[in-house]
Amino acid sequence: MLTFDNRFLQELPGDPETGNQLRQVFRACWSHVAPTPVSAPTLLAYSREMMETLGLSDAAIQSSEWVNALSGNGLIPGMQPYAMCYGGHQFGNWAGQLGDGRAISLGEVVNSKGERWELQLKGAGVTPYSRMADGRAVLRSSVREFLCSEAMHHLGIPTTRALSLVQTGDVVIRDMFYNGNPQAEKGAIVCRVSPSFIRFGNFEIYAMREDRETLQTLVDFTINRDFPELASYPEEERFAEWFAIVCVRTARLMAQWMRVGFVHGVMNTDNMSILGLTIDYGPYGWVDNFDPGWTPNTTDAAGRRYCFGRQPDIARWNLERLAQALYSLRPEREIYDEGLMLYDQAYNKEWGAVLTAKFGFAVWRDEYEPLINEIFDLMYHAEIDMTEFFRKLALVDAAQPDLALLESAAYSPALWDTFKPRLAEWLKQYAHVCQTEGRVPAERRKAMNSVNPRYVLRNYLAQQAIDLADQGDVSMIEELLDVLRKPYDEQLGRERFAALRPDWARHKAGCSMLSCSS
Ligand code: AMP
Ligand code: MG
Repeated sequence: MLTFDNRFLQELPGDPETGNQLRQVFRACWSHVAPTPVSAPTLLAYSREMMETLGLSDAAIQSSEWVNALSGNGLIPGMQPYAMCYGGHQFGNWAGQLGDGRAISLGEVVNSKGERWELQLKGAGVTPYSRMADGRAVLRSSVREFLCSEAMHHLGIPTTRALSLVQTGDVVIRDMFYNGNPQAEKGAIVCRVSPSFIRFGNFEIYAMREDRETLQTLVDFTINRDFPELASYPEEERFAEWFAIVCVRTARLMAQWMRVGFVHGVMNTDNMSILGLTIDYGPYGWVDNFDPGWTPNTTDAAGRRYCFGRQPDIARWNLERLAQALYSLRPEREIYDEGLMLYDQAYNKEWGAVLTAKFGFAVWRDEYEPLINEIFDLMYHAEIDMTEFFRKLALVDAAQPDLALLESAAYSPALWDTFKPRLAEWLKQYAHVCQTEGRVPAERRKAMNSVNPRYVLRNYLAQQAIDLADQGDVSMIEELLDVLRKPYDEQLGRERFAALRPDWARHKAGCSMLSCSS
């Protein structure tokens, strides 16, 4: 029996209207809405870790009661489904009311450790916030969200989680690249899980509507429920401290994404978690050949607003939008100036720590900066795989550096040859630094391998798992879920999951090109 304690619903104002008809919802944070049933739900996969965290057993999650609940065909006692109201800036412009258009929260579970975990179905049918769309999700995007949520967790990166992946038995029509080519795809639902699904956009909507009362209620609620560490602060300092914490958490998240080569793809303010979690896995991607300008999102291909290298700047821009919304409540510029300054500081500090660890240095020294810039420049121009490069760099013997060790990270033998002299010179200097630092080689290697993953959810791997699942074979989803449990460990017999992107995947839909259509 799970314990539900649905505070979002109980403590925040709700929409008096029920049902899922489209509407603008004013002065309320949520709307009651029931999931729309599906024809033939099948549980394709679930996360053992998340299941155990919630206090569920295999038998429970596989039971018809739970499979029904996880597919929108029924409710477990204590569940009270609702959709949240929020707005957001999309691609730099205020977009008005967005809200949970296809997400339906089921309630907040409090587990035996007293942790709060909200369960939310993604793709469970239309809500008052669905705008022009169908409230559904396709199998490909659901597999991607399911696997990546858990992979990020195991990498040690703050994220919303995923409990289950269900196939609905219904079809969903999608025009994947918005080019007049609609296809029937399999429908699916992920049950995602998070201590809070509150986004920057939850605050923005009330500020934009000049509804200070609801904004204040939501701020108080968020501080109370989601930031218990603030309870000990004097009341007059709490708000400023809260904004500062949000800035610092967001900064840390950005440094962690940059560490592993994760590109979110749609960093709109409605996709920014107030807890600094990775949220809303859509057209995200993992950097193969190192390229700060790379974006997996074809919708963003022209502007590259959300490309790999710009993520830290965009997160700051999003924090400025949050500040702007909160300013209507507390018009004290110092609060926001201070928070944003902390963002810059925290990002620089964390990024410095990330670089130190990635390169296996004992400490950070400013004179390492040109060395690091040079290799990033070389990795970009010589098309070198980010993940493979850092694992191989850990194997370099500083006493006798051998460039050949790194060649397995190169995508193009021709480019490798072209840049070989510069790469050799760089390696010599790097080895010299390591020698000068005098760190024990085994220690350096271990430190590097604990921050440079061996396995990430490469885009083409996710796509292979999707193609198989589409034919009814979920074995690769299971296997990826398992490989990605220990992303920093060398796993014997699983080398293929660490392989560089094959040539066929370079420009293939789903592998390097994704869209928001999901
Ligand atoms: P996203 O780009 O996934 O963050 O979505 C932006 C907004 O569009 C959010 O309000 C979503 O709930 C909504 N949305 C996206 N896809 C759908 C869909 N298939 N049905 C209804 N709403 C959707
Ligand atoms: Mg979203």
